[in-house]
Amino acid sequence: IPTVVIAGRPNVGKSTLFNKLAGRRHALVSDTPGVTRDRKDATAQLRGKTVRLVDTAGLEEAAPETLFGRMRASSEAAVSEADLVLFVVDGRAGITPADEHFAAWLRRQNRPVLLVVNKAEGRAGANAALEAFSLGLGTPIGVSAEHGDGLADLMGEIADRVPDNSDAEPAGERPLKLAIIGRPNAGKSTLLNRLLGEERMITGPEPGLTRDAVAVRFTDADGTEIELVDTAGLRRRARIEQPLEKMSVSASIEALKMAEVVVLAVDALDGIHDQDLQLARLVEREGRACVIALNKWDAVPDRNAARRAVSDRLQTSLAQMPGIPVVTLSALTGQGVDKLLPAIRKAHAVWNTRIATGALNRWFEDALERHQLPLVDGRRLKLRYITQPKARPPTFIVFGTRAEQTPEDYQRYLVNSLRDTFGLPGTPIRLQFRGTR
Ligand code: GDP
Repeated sequence: IPTVVIAGRPNVGKSTLFNKLAGRRHALVSDTPGVTRDRKDATAQLRGKTVRLVDTAGLEEAAPETLFGRMRASSEAAVSEADLVLFVVDGRAGITPADEHFAAWLRRQNRPVLLVVNKAEGRAGANAALEAFSLGLGTPIGVSAEHGDGLADLMGEIADRVPDNSDAEPAGERPLKLAIIGRPNAGKSTLLNRLLGEERMITGPEPGLTRDAVAVRFTDADGTEIELVDTAGLRRRARIEQPLEKMSVSASIEALKMAEVVVLAVDALDGIHDQDLQLARLVEREGRACVIALNKWDAVPDRNAARRAVSDRLQTSLAQMPGIPVVTLSALTGQGVDKLLPAIRKAHAVWNTRIATGALNRWFEDALERHQLPLVDGRRLKLRYITQPKARPPTFIVFGTRAEQTPEDYQRYLVNSLRDTFGLPGTPIRLQFRGTR
């Protein structure tokens, strides 16, 4: 499998990035404190590709006098066998002479390099990204490993640059990554424990040690392996049976960045709030599949009215992702929970959809005929063909003369038609337009 090496000065955030990319779930596997801390090697799934991640921070103990010497010594062996090097610089500190030396050395190694500006939040980060161009290692990618910003894009960029090994591990054998998010009191903890079958399947360590254990694996009735990302500590909270402070929405945001399918738990007694919609939009923006669990259904007095209110609200306020499946259930009594996993599997499948190029272009021609392309600056736009470079979420590129000038309403028309024709409810769809000469 391809090897991705994370290199850079000490303290630029290599280990944090490593942990985020590896999904930290390995903390569960070898859960001896101290062992996980200087772990330097992990297998990770990035956008459907399996890669071996190497963190050179774990190799830094040998220390020649100069910083550049240290960087080089710790990375030399790793870089020589890298299929891709992530060269990490610190956006807050800016580009240093050691970074420049290292970049020059890296260029001579003839390995593909992806330049990552970490801690890229704020103005200093933006400046550092500009400055980083001067390293001559291509377009820098800004992230905040700590906050999770930009990680989805980074994973995509990495996946694009390593060889496709999806044959090596068929999709069915990778666990489906799931997160449960929602407002405080929506019933996330209750639902998570219900899904895990009252803790019988939990193989993680005891409370107190769980701080790093953020993922739980289980196999559902259908045989699908599922990995539940628990960044909010929902499980720990339920286990020790004490009302810890309610987990903030920011924990939800962190969780959804690590997931493929997101269950948005909504309190049916309360209806859909603005904050629920904001979370759903974030799921869309981050390119995840979404399923709504309309919880506390046992206590809803008028179910028809509740169902109607929810579907109206979704229709008017979430037009960018129509067709999100809504599962009514009670995490408390377990009623309806059996419908949730099938809905999750379905959403995952839709999110993974790949459409054959032939069928795609037949639809495309048809769609263009049904709605004439508009004039832009007095000339009619011409779109020629469409490809799907990737799934997860379904992503398409439309090529044509001045295609990038396609007006937004026409773009929307194409997305909606694509969604209807190929049956892609509840998943984000990315449609890009690229001009040809
Ligand atoms: P979280 O903050 O989203 O994790 O919510 P909790 O799981 O802690 O649940 C919040 C409250 O809602 C608790 O008092 C639960 O007992 C209650 N609750 C959770 N699910 C249900 C449900 O399906 N029906 C009812 N009636 N109450 C529920």
